[in-house]
Amino acid sequence: MIRHFSELDIRDRFAALAADTVAKRAEACTKEGRLDRESWQEMSNAGVWRLAVPSKWGGDDGTWWDFVAAFEGIATGGRDLGFCLSMVAQAGLIRSLITYGTDEQRAYWLPRLLNGEVGATALTETTGGSDVTRIRTAATSHGDHYVLTGHKDHITNGPVADVALILGRVPEHGDRDITLFMVDLHAEGIQQGPVEDMMGNQTSPTGPILLDQVVVDAKNIIGGVGGGLEAVYNTISLDRLLYGILAAAYLDPLLDEVLAYTEQRHAFNVPIAEHQYVQGRVTDAKFAIEATRWVSYGALDSLLQGSAQASMMCSVAKYHAAETLKLGTETALRVFGHLGYMEGPYTKALKDALGTVIAGGTAEMQRKNVFNQMRRLAVPAAA
Ligand SMILES: Cc1cc2nc3c(=O)[nH]c(=O)nc-3n(C[C@H](O)[C@H](O)[C@H](O)COP(=O)(O)OP(=O)(O)OC[C@H]3O[C@@H](n4cnc5c(N)ncnc54)[C@H](O)[C@@H]3O)c2cc1C
Repeated sequence: MIRHFSELDIRDRFAALAADTVAKRAEACTKEGRLDRESWQEMSNAGVWRLAVPSKWGGDDGTWWDFVAAFEGIATGGRDLGFCLSMVAQAGLIRSLITYGTDEQRAYWLPRLLNGEVGATALTETTGGSDVTRIRTAATSHGDHYVLTGHKDHITNGPVADVALILGRVPEHGDRDITLFMVDLHAEGIQQGPVEDMMGNQTSPTGPILLDQVVVDAKNIIGGVGGGLEAVYNTISLDRLLYGILAAAYLDPLLDEVLAYTEQRHAFNVPIAEHQYVQGRVTDAKFAIEATRWVSYGALDSLLQGSAQASMMCSVAKYHAAETLKLGTETALRVFGHLGYMEGPYTKALKDALGTVIAGGTAEMQRKNVFNQMRRLAVPAAA
């Protein structure tokens, strides 16, 4: 059941905090190309990561709906897409530990992530991101530990993260060799960065993580040897629907600004709000925002219920998230006319939005997953 609206106070609390922290520092962090660690710590202190975690592992015994409410508040109040993309990466990591971790793993890693450390999920390599089975990071077994060597690329928080889920292969495990390791990025043999020069989202630094003979205890395998792909698909499912939640919450205040401008700006003796083509642009953005928001709530509901449709719904949400972010930010740019096209908040919003057609899986990969899931779920036609 969708019970989102019972968490309004959480959303308001985090919106106010983000307006006072993330929003105020976003411009400086964009110029400096860095994650706003100060705001990150303030969000952590306010308990954002504790919301969905059981108290036995340091959490507040809430639900992922509570986290989503807080996340919406941060997206709306902070108005910095990049900061929120960094949060998405960490949320997936936390859910992986809760879902696939052992009690020992949860007790060790969760308190670190709940209290201000930054996490990353490192799948992509130079060999490609869409087809994760092409990864080459090797994890050789030495009894009670593994030695990891590889090169991860384009990883959100990669240059600054403290811990990461690293997808590697255990060669002696044959066909089912893809395995997920929880790695302390302060360990010997790790090199992070440099920060990549991207078109947007500078407050969510991406970059490589190099692993050179990194020793990882066998007890830090998440989901068992060979269980990496299943755990990763579950992790990215949450990430995907969070893109949808983010798209709607981030665009809400932007569309409010657009609407206000249509009342204030005049053309042909009337406010431009009176022109039906302008109304059409604004309502198209609104349709997309609401569809994305509600399909994302539906996807979260499916995921939490363990529904057979969950993977498909999360891809539907991610697909709409990127398209809606593109449409919503382009709408702002168009309605503001030349003011929108000048380098400033609206060009920045569009550049940031474009990153989401790649990050979290491309639009093509969402289509592919939706089609595959439709086939899997199809009821065979009666003979
Ligand atoms: C802002 C940002 C943040 C990122 N953060 C992370 C992160 O935290 N962790 C991480 O592991 N990666 C991260 N990435 C990398 C991202 O996941 C990959 O870039 C993405 O999966 C695509 O991989 P690729 O760039 O190698 O393109 P490729 O996989 O080489 O694909 C190239 C093109 O071919 C298309 N294509 C490929 N296969 C098919 C197919 N079967 N059918 C149709 N089209 C296909 C793709 O859609 C794409 O258009 C991030 C990327 C960005 C932009």
